[in-house]
Amino acid sequence: MTDPRKAAALISGGLDSLLAAKVILDQGIHVEGINFYTGFCVEGHTHAIRQKDRARPKRNNALWVAEQLGIKLHIIDIIEEYKDIVASPKHGYGANLNPCLDCKIFMVQKAREWIDGHGFDFIITGEVIGQRPKSQRKDTMPVIASESGADDLLLRPLCARNLPQTRPEREGWVDRQRLFAFEGRSRKPQMALAEQFGFKDYAQPAGGCCFLTDVQYSHKLADLWRTRGTRRYELDDIMLLKVGRHLRPRPHFKMIIGREDGENRFLEGYRKQFTHLFTTSHNGPLVLIDGEVVDDDLELAAQITARFSQGREADCVDVEIHTADGATVSKQVKPIAGDQIPRNWYL
Ligand code: SF4
Repeated sequence: MTDPRKAAALISGGLDSLLAAKVILDQGIHVEGINFYTGFCVEGHTHAIRQKDRARPKRNNALWVAEQLGIKLHIIDIIEEYKDIVASPKHGYGANLNPCLDCKIFMVQKAREWIDGHGFDFIITGEVIGQRPKSQRKDTMPVIASESGADDLLLRPLCARNLPQTRPEREGWVDRQRLFAFEGRSRKPQMALAEQFGFKDYAQPAGGCCFLTDVQYSHKLADLWRTRGTRRYELDDIMLLKVGRHLRPRPHFKMIIGREDGENRFLEGYRKQFTHLFTTSHNGPLVLIDGEVVDDDLELAAQITARFSQGREADCVDVEIHTADGATVSKQVKPIAGDQIPRNWYL
C-alpha cells in the first residue's frame, strides 16, 4: 500500500477553511493545518480582555478547527516578515488597511516553502470565488497561485470545479467530482455543507478574524504611522491599538485610556514603558501616554484622565503621574468638560 498524499491546509479558524480541509480529509488525504500568526489576528485572548466580550468564546479558533478535524496544527509566527506586507502592499488595500491580496499571496508562498521542507504534496485553502471583493475573485485566484509560487499545487476544494484543474486533480490524488463549485457572497452553500458534516459551533465569519479589516483599528494604525513618520511598527504597538480608548489631544502625544477593569489590567503590563496616570481620589482608568510630553501636556492629560474617572463631576480630582524616567508627580485638577474634548481627538 502506498502512503497517502499529504496536503497542508491554511487554517484561519473560520468556516471555509474548516470545510476545505474536511473535504480533502474525506478523500483519504493526510492533512495538517497551518495557521499564520500576524499579530493582527482577533483571537480568544483579545475577547478575554474586555468584560463586555466575556460571553464570546475565548478559544483560539484555528486550534479549535484542528481539534474538530482531528489534525495537527502548525502555528507559524510571521510577525516580522508581515510588516512589509502591511506597510506597502503591491496590490493595495481593501476597504481599510487590510492588504488581503498581498496577504494571501504571502501566506500561500510561506505554505509553499513549508510543504517543500516537510515533504507535503499540495496546499489547500478555503477560498471561494466572489466571496470577498478584493482578494477572492475569479481574476485574483490565478494571481495568488502564480505570485506565491504555488502554481497548480494550490487547490481550493470549495470552488475547484469553477477553476482549471490543479495537479492534485490531474494526477488523481483527489477526485474533482467530489470537490465543489461555490461562487458568490452567499454563505448558504457553506452552511449547508457544515450541516451535512455535522459542524454546528463554527466561528461566525461576520465577526471578522483580522483587525486590519476594522475601520477604527485601521484609523488608529494610520495615525500611528503618520505621527511617527514611518510605516514601521512593533508587536506591542499593534497590540495596544486593540485596547482602550485612544485620544490624541496634541499632535505629539496620544493617550490610551482603559475603558474597564479588564483593559486597565492589560495596560498595567505596559506601565513601565510609558508615562502613565491614574486618579487616586476616585476610581478611574489607567492611562498610558504615547509620545514626549512637557508640563502643560501633563496638566491637560491629568484633566482628561479625571474626566474619564468617577470624579468627572467633581471640582477637584487627585491624579498621580509616573513619568517614563521614573519620577512621580501628584496633581489636583478639575476634570475637563465633555464639550471641551473635540471629536477629532478621538482616534
Ligand atoms: S482579512 Fe487579514 S488575514 Fe485575512 S486576507 Fe485580509 S489581511 Fe490577510
